Amino acid sequence: ILGTNRIFRIACIPGDGIGIDITKAAIKVLQKLSDTVGTFTFDFEIFDWSSTTFKERGYYMPPDGFEQLKAYDAIYFGAVGWPDVPDHISLWGLILPIRNSLNQYVNVRPTRILRGITSPLSNCPPTSLNWVIIRENSEGEYAGHGGTTHAHSSHTIATEVSIFTRIGCERIFRFAFETARSRPRKKLTMVTKSNAQRHGMVLWDQIFAEIKEEYPDVEVDKMLVDAMTVRMVLHPQSLDTIVATNLHADILSDLAAALSGSIGIAASSNLDPTRENPSMFEPIHGSAPDIAGKGIANPVGAFWSAAEMVRWLGFEEAANVLMECVENVTEASIKTRDLGGEKGTEEVTEAVCLEIEKVI
Ligand code: ATP
Ligand code: MG
Repeated sequence: ILGTNRIFRIACIPGDGIGIDITKAAIKVLQKLSDTVGTFTFDFEIFDWSSTTFKERGYYMPPDGFEQLKAYDAIYFGAVGWPDVPDHISLWGLILPIRNSLNQYVNVRPTRILRGITSPLSNCPPTSLNWVIIRENSEGEYAGHGGTTHAHSSHTIATEVSIFTRIGCERIFRFAFETARSRPRKKLTMVTKSNAQRHGMVLWDQIFAEIKEEYPDVEVDKMLVDAMTVRMVLHPQSLDTIVATNLHADILSDLAAALSGSIGIAASSNLDPTRENPSMFEPIHGSAPDIAGKGIANPVGAFWSAAEMVRWLGFEEAANVLMECVENVTEASIKTRDLGGEKGTEEVTEAVCLEIEKVI
């Protein structure tokens, strides 16, 4: 749909900590891909919105920040958060409002074991873990509703209200069913906690049962989130596409990332399926202050996220080429420390660029 030889304007928000290192690496690899594959060009604009600028200016995004972002074809995001700013301030300063205001109601987290990487699970040969987690990204437990009364007293009460709407549930389930249908196994596992949470989670279950009727060719099952963690570890091959709420999928996808080798390799896409707004691509890890600026951050999750951006922009084949090149590098044991290797971010990046050059 998007044609060839197009120039894509990409808004890059490196953010904090290793977000800066890995965004630099991703831009380098994307440049190399567009130079080599040649059917598209990226015009990157860097936005300095971060905890550093927050401390200087008092805000993460300027008031017209969303309007600025809307002018781009996609957003590439590094990571946000730094120890001297409370995490809920940094998350609500940047990433959550972007997801909300740009209608990015789906978060997709692909998980599989890349060549050359071993799972910490001994029962997990490479082919037995191949999942896509579809995370509800606009409401649920992260809706931000609630409040605090009797603050600073011994009677303090805080509420954190989860929001589940019919529209929100219907659209995420349809997206999940479409994803499941597009994959060979046509299998969807829905995650819930309706045994203990009796309003929102019950609506979630009920709407799932309704939407299921539209997809008779997709095999479904339903798991309580606690039992789901056990199943992911003990029977990874029994899962394919997974749909879960904002909070549940957040937690399950960190587990998924660890099971596939490292949190440093996991990718995510924040999508507005209507395509009215730009979608945003980011590795799932955070700013990792403990390793920031040391040149040892694993850039694979950043490359995988970049590949998903290329795919979303309409270049499936180029996205697959990029992942092939990344896997050639991991298979050759050019890996960072989190994967048991000894290479730095730049060495891995250079190795991927060399692989891309070999493609022509
Ligand atoms: P957030 O709240 O943003 O999710 P977090 O507190 O969960 O952040 P992360 O920054 O995701 O923490 O990372 C947790 C730990 O995992 C880091 O401290 C770091 O040691 C390791 N880690 C994360 N990302 C990478 C990476 N790309 N390469 C190597 N190690 C990483
Ligand atoms: Mg985290």
